[in-house]
This record gives sequence, structure tokens and C-alpha cells, in this order.
Amino acid sequence: MILIKYKLVCEISVAGESLGYISDKEKFEQSIEGIINKQEENKLYTTIAQMPEYKVTFVNKIETTKDEEILAKIEESSETTYKLYAVTIDGKQKELLTNLEEAENLVKSLTQKYAKTIKPKIGVTQVLTTDNQKGVTTIKTAKANLTKQLDAKEKAVKAKEEEATRNSYTSSSSNTSSSTSKTTTKVASLNGVTLSVTPVSGVITSRFGNRESIRSYGHTGLDIGAPKGTKIKAAASGTVIFAGTSGGYGKVVKISHGSGIKTYYAHCSKLYVKEGQKVNAGDVIAAVGSTGNSTGNHLHFEVIKNGVELNPQNYLYK
Ligand SMILES: [Zn+2]
Repeated sequence: MILIKYKLVCEISVAGESLGYISDKEKFEQSIEGIINKQEENKLYTTIAQMPEYKVTFVNKIETTKDEEILAKIEESSETTYKLYAVTIDGKQKELLTNLEEAENLVKSLTQKYAKTIKPKIGVTQVLTTDNQKGVTTIKTAKANLTKQLDAKEKAVKAKEEEATRNSYTSSSSNTSSSTSKTTTKVASLNGVTLSVTPVSGVITSRFGNRESIRSYGHTGLDIGAPKGTKIKAAASGTVIFAGTSGGYGKVVKISHGSGIKTYYAHCSKLYVKEGQKVNAGDVIAAVGSTGNSTGNHLHFEVIKNGVELNPQNYLYK
């Protein structure tokens, strides 16, 4: 008769501390499995800080069991990690999204939109968080925010470019219309680079943009006729980026002056500088010749800004 006073229960303890009794161990364990395996959007995993320990025991019948209460406590101690997707610009996280495909499509469309202007480095990166609400935006908001930022960047770049162009043409524009005018001694600058030395003195035999039977395209430089062996001087200081033979140019020296400005000296008979060499304005770099696609001794002189040939007479041989 003694046994009637007692019942079989299960004592739950976490980290050595008793939380109380439960009546149904199997159901309780299933519930904990349920917490861990609960399906949630973007969920990566759920952890429970410390798993409960079970001890089957007899207790007085008047002891109450509290399965639900204990389970709630354990659920409270659980932590769920979510996987979200951040759109990045230049490696910096900008907008947080829940859907990878949407994030990737947005990156694709933004990359295309600005491909011709600012060429932004946009990407998607995985972000793990225990709070899947914090900072998350809708695809619509993300698109609007990123477009705003990139538009501002594009505007700033354009303004800077326009300013640079204005600066580089301010001094030359007054001369282009009247090449015979010698009233100004102001030297034109290109992105802050000044071409201050005339490479060779001689007769201009072909101007920039000329079309001749020898070529079907516009002339990319200025030809100055001079005797073979005439010293060619660097128009500005810079670094020799090429000194050798190159197709129609024949023997050619290419100098980079920084800020996207280069000058080329072609058809030379001799080269006096080497690739990587630093030169000052006025340094002798080569001698006039007729190598490559050339019909007589002359210097073919090119001025290049950001990969585009400009008329050298905007700067020299005015
Ligand atoms: Zn030429």
C-alpha cells in the first residue's frame, strides 16, 4: 500500500540545477527536438545552450509536474542562427535581404546600369545573424536605396571629370582657333600635366586627323619633318613605358606622364631610353628616323589622354 503514495516522474536539471518534474519524458524529448528542428525561413540552425539531464525518480503523489513550464524555459534558452544576404558596394555591406536570388538579380541589374560610368564593385555576401528582423529590407527598398547611392556617386564622378576637362582645355581653347597667333605664352595643361618642350623643331608635314592615301583612318598624331638623327626631346617629365619596335610605329618611345596622359614618339632611328626609365622634360630620348610605316624622316608625335589621341597642336606646335 505504500507505493500508492508515490508516483514515477522524471526530474529535469540543467547544468546541475533542478528545474522540477515532468510526467512524460518521451513527449518532452520530442518537444525539444521540435524546438531544434522548427522550420523557419532563412534558418540555419537552432542550438540549446545546455541540454537537460533526466533522472527517473519516485516522488510523493502530491508533487506537481510542470512539463509545459520547463519546456518554455528551455525554449527561451535556445538560440537560432539565420542566414541573410547583404548587398555590398566596394566590400561594404549596404542592404540586408532574405532572398539570395533576389539579391543576385539586383546586383546584376545595378552592375549593368552603371557599367559605362562608375563601374561599381557590387556583390552579395552571406551574413549570419541571430536576429533575422534587424536591418532587413524589402527588395524594393534595397533597390531604391542602392540606386540613390550609386546615382550620387555617378554624379560626383561626372562633375569631377567635367572639372578636369574644363581645366585641361581652358588654356588651350584660346589657341585652337588661331594656330598662327603667338600672343599667348600660356602652356596648356592636360589633367594637370603640362607639355612644355617641343620634341623636335621642324616642318609640320601632316596634321592630326588628316586622311592620306597611306592610311584610311584619321591621323592619330602630328608629323614633324626633320633630318635623320635629329634629337627628340621628351615633351614633359614622366616614365618610359615602352621603348622598342612596334608595328607601324617602327622604333617608338612611349612615355606616361601620370593622370592618364601619355606621349608617343614614333619612326625613330635610334632610341636612347629604356622601359621603366624616368625622364625629365627636355631629356633627349631618341633620334628622328623613318622606321615602321613611314615614307621619310620625321617624328610622329602623339598626345594621349585616357586612351584617346588628342590633337598635339592644342598643346605644342601651335
Ligand atoms: Zn604620323
